Amino acid sequence: MASPIAHSFAGFWTFACQRGHFKTQLTAHWREYLLPLGVLILLANAPDLDLLLGNAVHRGFTHSLAAATLVSLALSCVWRIAPGFWRSVIVYFIAYSSHLLIDFFTGTKIGWTNTGFGMPLFWPWPKTFSSPLILIFGIHHKNFAALFSLDNLRACTYETLIFGAITVVASVLWKRKLKSRILRKAKLKPRTNRPIPESPTHLPFNLEYQKGETSPHLPTLQDQK
Ligand SMILES: [Zn+2]
Repeated sequence: MASPIAHSFAGFWTFACQRGHFKTQLTAHWREYLLPLGVLILLANAPDLDLLLGNAVHRGFTHSLAAATLVSLALSCVWRIAPGFWRSVIVYFIAYSSHLLIDFFTGTKIGWTNTGFGMPLFWPWPKTFSSPLILIFGIHHKNFAALFSLDNLRACTYETLIFGAITVVASVLWKRKLKSRILRKAKLKPRTNRPIPESPTHLPFNLEYQKGETSPHLPTLQDQK
């Protein structure tokens, strides 16, 4: 398992993606966003709650897509985090599944080492899955001493640096996108405010049009006779 640091970042990313314009609104309504942010961070960590039942049952049913679906549906019945039932289910599912995705790439050695722990992703099928490419260090949690080991300190520091860097890069790119969108809108504005000419001046029937006729006089077949 990865540490709660990596999973909490994933919960935050889910929240940030859900709120399309959260950057502009967060300062104005930050209290309003604390609850959904907290719920998504908790949900991204939720699969590891099976540790409360002991190491023997860890990475079982809670680390499966079936659990992600059930939890998302149940939560959406209780409280919709997004407008609409199914949209809410999707947001909850993404937050919960982010845990499975991170654990999928977690193992004892970084690199193409095939040292992942394995999860029954398609429970009740008992086959376990993990990536041969390991990107995140696993956390030791067999006992109290293991929890506070140097290996775990290294794993937590690594996660903070990697996930923190991804967050910083993503926010810079997001800011740039917002800025270019605002500039594009500003450039388009003068065109829409351009005054419309009162009447066409280059057409031969312009004078008659200005005298108050409802429509310009167009030559007909009778006129030509
Ligand atoms: Zn886990």
